[in-house]
Amino acid sequence: MGILGGTFDPVHNAHLAIAGTAMRTLGLDKILWIPTGKPGYRKPPLASVYDRLAMLALAIKGEPDYEIDRRELEANASPYTVDTLTALRAERPQDELYLLLGGDQYASLRRWRQPAEVMRLARLAVFARPGHAVAPGGDAIIVPMAPLAVSASEIRARAARGESLAGLVPPAVANYIAENRLYR
Ligand code: ATP
Repeated sequence: MGILGGTFDPVHNAHLAIAGTAMRTLGLDKILWIPTGKPGYRKPPLASVYDRLAMLALAIKGEPDYEIDRRELEANASPYTVDTLTALRAERPQDELYLLLGGDQYASLRRWRQPAEVMRLARLAVFARPGHAVAPGGDAIIVPMAPLAVSASEIRARAARGESLAGLVPPAVANYIAENRLYR
């Protein structure tokens, strides 16, 4: 099972590319998309939980192997990956867990809470990101994928300027952002 955590503010095409590539190259049965509540280590998202979930649901609609897991959005939920993985490990003792990460997140792993425990609980599967190449070696699986120059920050900036998001997010997500005037 793949685990793809993120702020998804908004979900975008690189997230979908990571998920699809992970399904194929790692032979996964399922991907759990886990939106963060209040991140432990970064600025809070701009869009509401409601909107982030709505966009995520639109983006993965029709993909039976993708599931949204809301545990990090619950009141008093821990924002730390180690706590989410500990819970998932206990719930799914038979499953092999793969934590899917962009190169930027992987580069900051040492500053996470209990990185060694994170790596004990799940295999890390890392995707290169422009500006964040990943060097082979170490314990992570480096998943081959052409780096995609797509980021939620850039998408928010484009939306704020009223520019097209075509090719950056799925059409349904672009429509949702436009109709609800998100990031303006
Ligand atoms: P922001 O620009 O707001 O920091 P983001 O684009 O990094 O957002 P997140 O929801 O924070 O989006 O990312 C969730 C996960 O997806 C993280 O592990 C991140 O590294 C990874 N990811 C996002 N965009 C890419 C990309 N273009 N290439 C590889 N990994 C990515």
